[in-house]
Amino acid sequence: MHKTNRPTGPMTTAIHAGETPDPSTLASAPPIHMSSTFVSEEVSGFSAHDLTPDSPFAYTRWANPTVAMLEAKIAAMQGTEACLCTASGMAAAAAIFFTFLSAGDHVIVSDVSYAGVAELARDTLPRMGIEVSTVDMSDPQTVAAAIRPNTRLIHTETPVNPIGRLTDLAAISGLARQAGALLSCDATFASPIGMDTVALGVDLTMHSVTKYICGHGDAVAGAVCGRADLVAKMRVEAAIHHGGVLSPFNAWLIARGAATLPLRMKAHAAGAQAVAEWLEADPRVTRVIYPGLPSHPQADLAARQMSNMSAMISFQVGDAATGERIARQMIDRMEVIHYAVSLGHHRSLIFWMATEGLMETSFRLQGRQRDAYRAFAGDGIFRLSVGLEDPEDLIADLDRALG
Ligand SMILES: *Cc1c(COP(=O)(O)O)cnc(C)c1O
Repeated sequence: MHKTNRPTGPMTTAIHAGETPDPSTLASAPPIHMSSTFVSEEVSGFSAHDLTPDSPFAYTRWANPTVAMLEAKIAAMQGTEACLCTASGMAAAAAIFFTFLSAGDHVIVSDVSYAGVAELARDTLPRMGIEVSTVDMSDPQTVAAAIRPNTRLIHTETPVNPIGRLTDLAAISGLARQAGALLSCDATFASPIGMDTVALGVDLTMHSVTKYICGHGDAVAGAVCGRADLVAKMRVEAAIHHGGVLSPFNAWLIARGAATLPLRMKAHAAGAQAVAEWLEADPRVTRVIYPGLPSHPQADLAARQMSNMSAMISFQVGDAATGERIARQMIDRMEVIHYAVSLGHHRSLIFWMATEGLMETSFRLQGRQRDAYRAFAGDGIFRLSVGLEDPEDLIADLDRALG
């Protein structure tokens, strides 16, 4: 009675998917299975290659009931057959790259992306004999031009951290299919609620679960969602062989947060819209990038591709020196917003990023690509993750800091 494959609405899915009353106690809330090993009732093989979806639990690096509960919940929210949870968002990105790429293969990565992914793609993959092209994915033409006969994977991120630029997933998925390549998308900023990546043709949707899915800033985790065969491959490679698995305790904590994801995303987006509109109307602010504002350079694409605009705002205040001074004032004057990295928490977080610094350490863009970044995001940006506090209190805090 409690396990049905009947489609349910997003809120019911977030609350119930993956969970059933505990069969041994009928507890309504899911238990935490903090066991590294499981007693075997049969004499069986002991290799990652012996694993099937019906295998009993054997060892927590292979699979764990509490982690499996979260995986089923995230897969249901994203609308995919399966999901692999990992120890962090970076472990999820590494799972995609190191499962589906080998020496001699070519991958196309967004020229702006989460810094850890940017550095992994630029420094580590070439060391493994993997060819990497970094292109501006807001233009499908540049992606088409970068495709080679050995292109196996196109890795996108939309909206992209930290500048909120978008990628047209339907257009890029057409190109990937033609090229016989997989399309992966880091959808951390949008969360599973903000984009139907399956309908848009994405093969592998990854999340830093640390962010919106967990939602409370108290656990680090990652996930990759996709077809069952692709996820099974990643489980052997990334979980069983590379070993970056999620702790059952963190999975349990995250499932508690994930149950309210659709509600939280509505409130996040409403709060961010109010804050973005206030910032845009303030003469001290040079530019505001938020997909819910008509002024976003890709507002049409945002409206087409995103059903929830999430709550990541990038804004600029004057030149680099001014930005740095305002960042100092934020640290000194803000009473609600935390000056800290990370995002997607119920607490609002803000962080200033110097364009020069990002170029040197993570993105290393030259010529036209560097010009395109500057044209989009200017010189130094504040990345604001609007939390769930009352928007008036956040606006009052920003007003004090900008003063
Ligand atoms: C934070 C983040 C990551 C990395 O996730 P961790 O959980 O910190 O390892 C990857 N992609 C995006 C877009 C992120 O914001």
